[in-house]
Amino acid sequence: MKIIAYGIRDDELPYLKEWEEKNKIEVKAVQDLLTTDNIDLAKGFDGVVAYQQKPYSDGIFEKMNEYGIHAFSLRNVGVDNVPFETLRKFNINLSNVPAYSPSAIAELSVTQLMALLRRIPEFESKMKSGDFRWAPDIALELNQMTVGVIGTGRIGRAAMSLFKGFGAKLVCYDVFRNLEIEKEGLYVDTLEELYKQADVITLHVPALKDNYHMLNDEAFSQMKDGVFILNYSRGMLIDSESLIKALDSGKVAGAGLDTYENEVGIFDIDHGSQAIDDPIFNNLYNRENVMITPHSAFYTKTAVKNMVQIALDNNKSFIEKGTAENLVSLD
Ligand code: NAD
Repeated sequence: MKIIAYGIRDDELPYLKEWEEKNKIEVKAVQDLLTTDNIDLAKGFDGVVAYQQKPYSDGIFEKMNEYGIHAFSLRNVGVDNVPFETLRKFNINLSNVPAYSPSAIAELSVTQLMALLRRIPEFESKMKSGDFRWAPDIALELNQMTVGVIGTGRIGRAAMSLFKGFGAKLVCYDVFRNLEIEKEGLYVDTLEELYKQADVITLHVPALKDNYHMLNDEAFSQMKDGVFILNYSRGMLIDSESLIKALDSGKVAGAGLDTYENEVGIFDIDHGSQAIDDPIFNNLYNRENVMITPHSAFYTKTAVKNMVQIALDNNKSFIEKGTAENLVSLD
């Protein structure tokens, strides 16, 4: 058995090699993203592994079929750049990695919140200019606060256990309730109820059409004054202009953001001294009470290892058994 993996970054290579040695299966690593121009490298291999934001074109799968390859495994969750109909036509199995490390995302969201509550950015900039005084940057304690968790899936629940460790009170909302959380009596029936109670609101819901600009003017108006907002999920969940208004008025005391609705072209790029041509982003980015990371919550050694090795496990399983644990339905 031989597998070929496209779009392999330097930080993924050691995990690919580790899997190769452990499984005694040859895995060829290609740095370039998968296109119709380099699919010919897959000739003679049994499975293809990939990860990219760019769409996978029909021609790739036509060639895979020609080479007798029917196993295609992604190292990420999202499958919206894969042409399902073409895979169905050529009888190609698809898998993804639905959960590579919920804790990676949860840990960064709590880290950013703690930095906001302890006024770390303000102290850092004051101290850089020689001012070592305390006031006016008095902090808040998380153990005295209520955290509202919207979305109690894998990441929401991982975040909840960390917030619990800090002694925070929790209140949750989800359209599909988790039994354990239900037993603990932590759910409220409406978002309005959560907004009314929460001192911190953390979003852990997916980017569905219905969730577009979930936090807008109306939502912010229902929240407590001085609320903290965390978005480690998807940029489209927050109307950024509404957030700016809420920060200006003091309704929102601070925000931790790992996503931004127009992040493509901004994140994971070295801009050097070039200014970012997005006044809304710059408005948020230049505030000391807004902490932004470039969609890097997932970027931990544990998560990257899982993305590579779970994808390879899935691919091996397709080749050996014709199915895999993370098979994606093409219907
Ligand atoms: P999950 O599917 O386990 O949980 C999502 C939960 O949201 C589900 O319980 C679902 O019922 C709930 N939900 C959906 N719409 C809702 C709504 N309108 N109101 C209330 N609840 C709603 O997903 P997960 O693994 O916990 O991931 C959550 C999100 O985190 C992902 O969708 C993704 O956008 C984001 N994410 C971010 C990063 C990062 O690096 N920043 C990495 C991975 C995932």
